Amino acid sequence: MVSAAERWLEFKNEVTAECLSLDRDPNQIEIIVVTKFHGSELVRELWNAGARNFGESRHQEASQKVEELSDCPATWHFVGQIQSNKAKAIARYASVLHSLDRDSVVDALSNSENQVAGFIEYNLTDDPGRGGVNDEAELLRLAEKISNTETIELLGVMAVAPQATDPNVAFARLRKISERLVESHPAAKYISAGMSQDWRQALAYGATHLRVGTAITGNR
Ligand SMILES: *Cc1c(COP(=O)(O)O)cnc(C)c1O
Repeated sequence: MVSAAERWLEFKNEVTAECLSLDRDPNQIEIIVVTKFHGSELVRELWNAGARNFGESRHQEASQKVEELSDCPATWHFVGQIQSNKAKAIARYASVLHSLDRDSVVDALSNSENQVAGFIEYNLTDDPGRGGVNDEAELLRLAEKISNTETIELLGVMAVAPQATDPNVAFARLRKISERLVESHPAAKYISAGMSQDWRQALAYGATHLRVGTAITGNR
């Protein structure tokens, strides 16, 4: 049996090798281990193996885990949909929010005592009901709103590649969208993209933040 700690070390090596083949600097890539549905013991094992960035997608589960792991000062990322009435509570433990997509969430965070960094989620599917902003005009408008807060540092764009489409096509689109954002917000140059099944394609299209669950944690 391969342990999660071993999978983490192996995954890091694979990312390093892939970066070298793409002529990218592996030190510029952040690997966020998505630990949703796993208990705090698994997070602790990964922490002991050197992982420092963890991602969660549900507030209640995340806040409990963070409390159980108060002796491990990890960086917590929130990657799930954010309800505006939970946004401030999430910002108490998560320092990076990957799924900003609505005014109400930005408004809630703008009068929080906690500073956060954030990505605007872009919806690459044809279903406008999915999480994420649906077009570039909306992206640029929300980016402007975020820039006018004193509590949110805008890092860039985030997306999930739609199922049953070529991830290369999805991530090529995301990269174009990122370039549009950078024209007006030069510091917002980061791209949160790539999961267990498609992180290599995401890296090829400029992802800087990989959100990887099962490839490291094992099945949920
Ligand atoms: C669960 C999740 C991931 C990780 O997915 P895996 O396929 O297990 O790597 C990444 N991003 C988001 C938004 C998720 O909800």
